[in-house]
Amino acid sequence: MKREFRSTVTDIAIVLVCGALILTVAWGVTDRRAVQTTQTDAPHILIDPGHGGADGGAEASDGTLEKELNLAVSLPLRDLLTVMGYAVQMTRATDVMLNTEGDTLRERKVSDIHNRLAMVEAADLTVSIHQNKFTQPQYFGTQIFYSANTEESCVLADSVRDQVIALLQPDNTRALKRGTSDIYLLHHATRPMILVECGFLSNQAELAKLKDAVYQRQMAFAVAAGVMTYF
Ligand SMILES: [Zn+2]
Repeated sequence: MKREFRSTVTDIAIVLVCGALILTVAWGVTDRRAVQTTQTDAPHILIDPGHGGADGGAEASDGTLEKELNLAVSLPLRDLLTVMGYAVQMTRATDVMLNTEGDTLRERKVSDIHNRLAMVEAADLTVSIHQNKFTQPQYFGTQIFYSANTEESCVLADSVRDQVIALLQPDNTRALKRGTSDIYLLHHATRPMILVECGFLSNQAELAKLKDAVYQRQMAFAVAAGVMTYF
């Protein structure tokens, strides 16, 4: 009797374990399908590494060009958001300008920015990555600008700012800044858009961090976390 009971208990245990395994596998399959479905309808995020090619952007005292750091943060940002199931596109994934016309650098920059704006307008939201530079060397810390044309831009900026502070810069007290006509893309974007100035090339300690591959990935992670929190 005891034996039978033990055997029944064992049988029940086996059934339960098998059931749990089947459920786990089924859950996994459902989950993967869910991710695939999400990817098709996923928000279309545009990442815009500022400058590129003949347009180096700001230059640090050691010759580091802003365009290089912008790309170095944008590439891991792309990978992180892609892995999270978003449909991610980049304005550039290499060191190029996006101009389709123009001879002088100025004309090429105008063509470049028009082409970027067309991509911004086709996306659900855009995160533009830049670096700051100031005449005085003491200033540091990420600063985020948002497009004043959509309320969502400010919400997204706030979300990214919160994550940058929580994960990387607990002492950062910089307020969000409304993009003015000085920032062409923010001024003209009718879709949600923010511009993240990751740090100051003019501050030697921050420049050293910005050039560090680990810090670049950390910055990318903080921005990605802000985007995910926004959604
Ligand atoms: Zn810039």
